[in-house]
Amino acid sequence: MNVDIDVVVIGAGLAGLGAAAALKAQGRSCLILEASGRIGGRAWTTNPASLGGVWFDMGAVWFHDAENNPLVPIAEAAGDRLLRSNEIRTERTYIGSREATDAEARSYADAWPRFEEAADALLSDGGDVSLADVTRSLPGDPWAATVEAWEGPVICAVDANRFSARDWRRNALGGSNLVAEGGIGAFVARRLTTGLDIRLNTPALRIRWGGKHGRVSVETATGTLTAGACIVTVSTGVLAAGTLAFEPALPPDIQESIHALPMGLALKVALRANGPDRLDLPLHCSVDRQIARSGLALMPFQCWPFGRDYVQGWIGGGTAWDLAKAGEAAAVDHALSELRAIFGGRVDRLFAGGGSLVTSWDADPWVRGAYCYAIPGQSHARDRLGIPLADGHLMFAGEACNVPYAGTLAGAWISGQAAAAAVSGG
Ligand SMILES: Cc1cc2nc3c(=O)[nH]c(=O)nc-3n(C[C@H](O)[C@H](O)[C@H](O)COP(=O)(O)OP(=O)(O)OC[C@H]3O[C@@H](n4cnc5c(N)ncnc54)[C@H](O)[C@@H]3O)c2cc1C
Repeated sequence: MNVDIDVVVIGAGLAGLGAAAALKAQGRSCLILEASGRIGGRAWTTNPASLGGVWFDMGAVWFHDAENNPLVPIAEAAGDRLLRSNEIRTERTYIGSREATDAEARSYADAWPRFEEAADALLSDGGDVSLADVTRSLPGDPWAATVEAWEGPVICAVDANRFSARDWRRNALGGSNLVAEGGIGAFVARRLTTGLDIRLNTPALRIRWGGKHGRVSVETATGTLTAGACIVTVSTGVLAAGTLAFEPALPPDIQESIHALPMGLALKVALRANGPDRLDLPLHCSVDRQIARSGLALMPFQCWPFGRDYVQGWIGGGTAWDLAKAGEAAAVDHALSELRAIFGGRVDRLFAGGGSLVTSWDADPWVRGAYCYAIPGQSHARDRLGIPLADGHLMFAGEACNVPYAGTLAGAWISGQAAAAAVSGG
């Protein structure tokens, strides 16, 4: 491969696609190098046989904050059907094996603003604390540990004691959540790739930057490509692993930022029913339970989503890393034991012999986790990682670099477009 172009983009996830689309609109030549055999990165729709062949998003599934999400108008303009998840969903919360009373459910609903206010009070002096410190500041609150379990491991894929409360507050998502019918990965492949030059199965191995006039060269197994500039959109997990070399080495503050933004992990565990029992739950029902104390894991379930015949559990943080190491059967057992604690032995009869699916983003060498989080005191690392290097000839973009949409498709897309606006070259 002997190519000389304006800008080379590393990675065909949302950030890389966002960057390339913006560069194309500016009339600049651009090539995306993608290590894996598919487009979309952590937006990936499959049709697993174990779940009966229905579409299933292995990674991202929702357009968060739909009212402000730049991907929503793209889907709408193309006539894609978007499902309003918040409107079709019902919710059940359990305390042990009984359902929460109305009064308890109200107290739970009020616990979220209570938790946010407590975080803001702790952060008001401009410093930072961990999310677990927020729970500690609410002794006697019966729901604080449950909110912590949601906001830490479940939503942000990290245990609360490792997670910056400031990072959490800076990236709090509002608005509604929409689901692209047919899957978000399929939407990305269908709508966000038109006219882009993407080389699949072409990992970038080494980036030489700071050459004459800021030129950059990117080494691959099939040759070296030179460009006026380079936008790198790989995850912080890939950057920290060092499989992509930089010459000269990245400045210390960039290396520090990468290590201040480690990858969290979230596993989806889907179990298919092998019988007519639906656990007396309505379709598309979200099930969670009260968590007794800070640090304990929560595995919420979405049961019978869109009327399908499976339940999907979600587990994040340290428990997810432990289960990933222990293997798929351990993750399935964990999900079954969580369901059994609420619904009893009927769970075993219902799911015995049904199919299952466990996602494994930890094992994808081109991602190495779910999405990144900032460790306490390091929320600013996101801003620092996005600052142009070498007068804009080398830039980082991706979910890690965005605020207030860190860890999302929209954040990655916006960050890629911002990098395209700031990058030199060509
Ligand atoms: C389980 C899960 C659920 C999620 N749920 C949601 C959700 O509901 N809504 C939401 O908005 N977000 C969600 N997210 C987060 C969202 O998917 C990510 O924030 C976003 O997709 C990240 O995009 P990116 O472009 O920054 O990175 P990536 O998608 O990781 O793209 C980077 C690309 O770089 C490639 N690459 C890596 N190394 C190299 C190399 N050396 N050379 C060339 N290419 C390379 C990778 O293969 C990858 O394709 C979820 C993520 C996961 C894992």
